[in-house]
Amino acid sequence: MVALITGGNRGIGKSIALEFAKASVNVVINYYHHEQEALELAEYIREHYDVEVMTIACDVSKEEEVEMMVNQITDAYGTIDILVNNAGICRDGLLLDKSPREFLRILNVNLVGTFLCSKYVGKIMLEQKRGRIVNISSTNALDTYYPESCDYDASKAGVISLTHNLAQDFAPFVRVNCVCPGWVKTDMNQDLSVEQIQKENRKILLGRFADPEEIAKVVVFLASNKASYVNDSIIRVDGGRCSG
Ligand code: NDP
Repeated sequence: MVALITGGNRGIGKSIALEFAKASVNVVINYYHHEQEALELAEYIREHYDVEVMTIACDVSKEEEVEMMVNQITDAYGTIDILVNNAGICRDGLLLDKSPREFLRILNVNLVGTFLCSKYVGKIMLEQKRGRIVNISSTNALDTYYPESCDYDASKAGVISLTHNLAQDFAPFVRVNCVCPGWVKTDMNQDLSVEQIQKENRKILLGRFADPEEIAKVVVFLASNKASYVNDSIIRVDGGRCSG
């Protein structure tokens, strides 16, 4: 079994790569800027788990790069069984201050990237008549919008919509599901002040942000045979929300 995790070098993606390795799944770690983190993670996995690891630099928003990445994986392994569309970016800023260029960059990475990877990996999954795709959206796409992330929230709503299309288009061979995390302790939230974190914690029934592993375990479950009848589902993993 081979799993491609986009943005697999850091944060939630890194935890997903580790959880797959623990489950004896070979992992392909895609990254964009941070090569060192990808190489170190690959080294760690090779030392600790009996699986194969590959690292590939690729901007998921660029079609030629995605096509090359997918070819590189199939040349090496002959298959891709699992795709996790995890790569994502967020740039806080008020709606009135955002330029179309900034807005489109978020859409291109988060939504177009999910489309492109699903398109090229999906072709292989359809040929082999098996596969699982897990998309990473966000509770921001559902009901917990953040005032400074209109582009991000729209991109993540698009990921949910795309999940339904992919599940339809690739049925019955490929199961496609979507995870919507709430707040997670990663670099994406490193600029939040202590006061902001405390305020957000008050809105979460469990009273804290998630550890990345807590998202990763749900993703690996969805990609496993244990979830053999879970398809086209949007699953929130946010500790429960309260009015705060
Ligand atoms: P991080 O900022 O920690 O990591 C982002 C990852 O995406 C990195 O691996 C980065 O690679 C990769 N990436 C960014 N741009 C590209 C690109 N153009 N092509 C390929 N890879 C790219 O984010 P998180 O781990 O927190 O987030 C992971 C996913 O979870 C995202 O989709 C995010 O929207 C979602 N999410 C996160 C939440 C949170 O609270 N953290 C909440 C809800 C959803 P590199 O380092 O090489 O640039």
